[in-house]
Parts: sequence; C-alpha cells; structure tokens
Amino acid sequence: MIPYGRQHIDEDDINAVVETLKSDWLTQGPAVPQFEQALADYCQVQFGVAVNSATSALHIACLSLGVGDGDRVWTSPNSFVASANCALYCGAEVDFVDIDITSGNLCAAALADKLEQAACTNTLPKVVIPVHFAGQSCDMEAIAKLAQMYGFKVIEDASHAVGASYQDSRVGCCQFSDISIFSFHPVKIITTLEGGMAMTNNAELASTMRLLRSHGVTNHPDSMKKSSDGPWYYEQIALGYNYRMNDVEAALGASQVNKLSEYVTQRNRVAAHYDQRFSGEGNIAPLVVSPSCVSSFHLYVVRINAITPEQQAWLVSSLREAGIFAHLHYIPIHTQPFYREKGFNWGDFPAAESYYRHAVTLPVFPDLTPSQVDFIADTLLSLVNSLTR
Ligand SMILES: *Cc1c(COP(=O)(O)O)cnc(C)c1O
Repeated sequence: MIPYGRQHIDEDDINAVVETLKSDWLTQGPAVPQFEQALADYCQVQFGVAVNSATSALHIACLSLGVGDGDRVWTSPNSFVASANCALYCGAEVDFVDIDITSGNLCAAALADKLEQAACTNTLPKVVIPVHFAGQSCDMEAIAKLAQMYGFKVIEDASHAVGASYQDSRVGCCQFSDISIFSFHPVKIITTLEGGMAMTNNAELASTMRLLRSHGVTNHPDSMKKSSDGPWYYEQIALGYNYRMNDVEAALGASQVNKLSEYVTQRNRVAAHYDQRFSGEGNIAPLVVSPSCVSSFHLYVVRINAITPEQQAWLVSSLREAGIFAHLHYIPIHTQPFYREKGFNWGDFPAAESYYRHAVTLPVFPDLTPSQVDFIADTLLSLVNSLTR
C-alpha cells in the first residue's frame, strides 16, 4: 500500500537519536534549544518554543495572547479539529470563516465580510487562526490588514507548511502574525515523532509560552516573586502544563531541519508531476497555488468536479483496493458531532462543505518515485473517466 504521507528517516537522523540516548540528557538538555534555534534561523524568526505537539503549541499560543472565558476565536472549517479545539481549552467560543474552494484556505474576503458584521454586533474575535492548508500560506497580507483594522491577534496554524514560502519569506517568520505553529507528526514535512513548535518575534510571548509548557514553574530570579531560599528554589507563577519536548525528539528534529529544503523540493517535484498528468482533464482540478506562494505540499489534493458523494466514497475505496491509500482532508470541523452540539450545522459554511464533497487527497512524500506517481495518476484517471462514461 502506498501511504498518503510518509516520513523520511536517514542514517544521520538515527545517529543523532542514538547519540542523544547515550548522552547525559534525555530531557531538558541542550538539544531542545539547539532545535529551536535551527528552525528559528531557517524561518528567519527570533524565537522558537518547542513542545510535545502542535496541539499543545496552539493551546499555549492562545493562552499567551490572553484568550479566556467569553473571548471569540475564529478559524477555518477546513482543518484538523485541533485548530478549533485550542480555543475551547481556554474557555473561549469558536466560530469559523468559510474557505476559498480553489486553495482550501480561509478566504480573506469572507473574513472581511464576517468582521464587518461582527463589528456591528460587538462580537469581534480576539484571535483569528488561519490554517495554511496542504502547505500553502493563506493571504497573510490581507489578513494582517484586517487584524490592524479590527484589533485581533493572529496565530498561523502552519502545521502543514514548514519549509513553505510566502512573498519571498519563509512561513513561520511571523511578518504578518503574532505566532506561527508547526507540527512534527510523522505525516507532516519534518518529524520529531510527536512534536510541535511555536515561532514568534515577541520576546514576552515566547517567555510566557516557555513558562506554560513547563508547569508555570520558573527558576529565573527575574521572574520570581520573592528572593530565593537556596539553590533548590523554584516558583510556580502561573498554571502551566507538561508540554515539553524531550531531547531525543529534538535531536531528531534538528537533524531533519538539515533536509527540510530538500523535502520541500521533492514534494514539489511530485506535485508538478501530478499537475502535468492532470492538465487538460476537465473533471480533475488540483488545488491552485498562488504565484506569491511556494507550497510545502504536505497534501496533494484534487477536486473532482462532477462526482456524487457515493461516487466519491467508491473512488477512494477503489484507490485503496488498488494499493493507493487515498484520503480526504478535511471533514468540515463544524459538522463534527461535538461541534453540532454547540449549534453548528450543515449549510453554515457552504464552500468548505462543497469542497469536502469533491476533494480527494493523493499520496505525496519525498520518497514517492516518478513511476509510483504515474501509477497513481493512471489509476485515478481511469477511475474518474469510468464515472463520466
Ligand atoms: C496535524 C495538525 C495539527 C495537530 O498537530 P499535532 O502535532 O498532531 O498536535 C493541528 N493543525 C493542523 C492543521 C494539523 O494538520
């Protein structure tokens, strides 16, 4: 079976992990700050705060921006549930902004409309979390202008987009946001097994997130409320969590950063090959990548224009029977039973719902060979053509 995503692990990665296992530090040693520095340098951003998942990073990012009871957080319905859950962890309310169907990304024009309405009813969001779907940045310049105008903060959920670029800058540089989040789950671009990182140029946000990832406990004299009782002394000054990344994972992450550009190149090679195979096929529309973006192609998605939900299920099953683990990203978050209980319904975000009824995710990862891509393209083309015949 060809999976839809797969990590690439080489001897350098294995050696980095083994060396760390043999060292004095399995947690809270030098590897975590080294990984943070390596990825921050790559992204041209000042601070990286490594944690045990992107979900944890989203949670402490919201907390560091002061999200709490009664606040509103808006995100994309076309995402993994973690993009929305993080607001609920903080006691805030979640709402969604519909997407641009050609990119799968949160639509800046829909955001502008929704903000205009919310301003009238005094229900503006405190934070908006655009999600860089499939590895392509949202229109961050437009979103940042709206943030200025309406006074909300921006967290980029860049879980898919490590190594991507927007307007000649790396995603994660935070030029148009307060914080950017990466995920290092094995299906994402680089892996630490489980892991995530929050990037920011704001020293205060970085230090708040560092505090929150480790119980809210500090041993920095400058942060303490009273003078030290002795060399063992520490203080808890906030309610934090155990969200730390360990040194073994961080050593793997730092080794993976060395190959990040190559991974993105390979993923773009696969995407260009698919694009070429599907060009001129009226019923197959690959996601459109804007000229201002280089996607990291975490996912390669096609929309099948003329397809019923039954045919879509048959298509994905048939691909799997042929040894191709096709998938579907994403079931709109607002249609999940948990969110329906909060009052959301089918029909609330029509573009995300229509997108869901037409999309299919095909395999993409660095080691996918040209002949595998041709096999997948041939199989998809013959299945889709049998639909319309
Ligand atoms: C994978 C993913 C997450 C969660 O990442 P974890 O590291 O598994 O917690 C959050 N948002 C998006 C868009 C994702 O794809």
